[in-house]
Amino acid sequence: MSEYDRILQVLRQRGERITIQRRLVIDALIDTQTHMTINDVNEHIQTRQDTHALAEPTVYRILQWLKELELVSQTDMAETGIVYQIIGSEKHHHLVCLNCGKTIDVSDDLFDSIRHQLATEHGFHARIDHMAIYGYCSDCAPENE
Ligand SMILES: [Zn+2]
Ligand SMILES: [Zn+2]
Repeated sequence: MSEYDRILQVLRQRGERITIQRRLVIDALIDTQTHMTINDVNEHIQTRQDTHALAEPTVYRILQWLKELELVSQTDMAETGIVYQIIGSEKHHHLVCLNCGKTIDVSDDLFDSIRHQLATEHGFHARIDHMAIYGYCSDCAPENE
């Protein structure tokens, strides 16, 4: 099943309507398979010959809708701004250096114990879709700490 079919299936199960505008945003996220700001999404949509850009609040609303459906993650990546991405089967997260801006990808396993602990101690179902952890990379960290 393609990524698009998987998303379509979820939307159908929830009884959600797929408008042309929603479809354009979903397509953009699937096509690029990477983090996108609202601007990126719109730029991608404009590269299609048959379409015009959508209004920014429209793109924002569609992304929030997808986020609520747990199909898309929303992450503040510091300098890059707020980015959106399809939540695929392979979740990942980032370490973001506040000094040089370098990002390091980390695997989702890192959060298994946190999820487990929150569930057992608080009955809390943590939704860790795509995290950015800020700090300083090995090049930028103060050496005497
Ligand atoms: Zn990411
Ligand atoms: Zn750094």
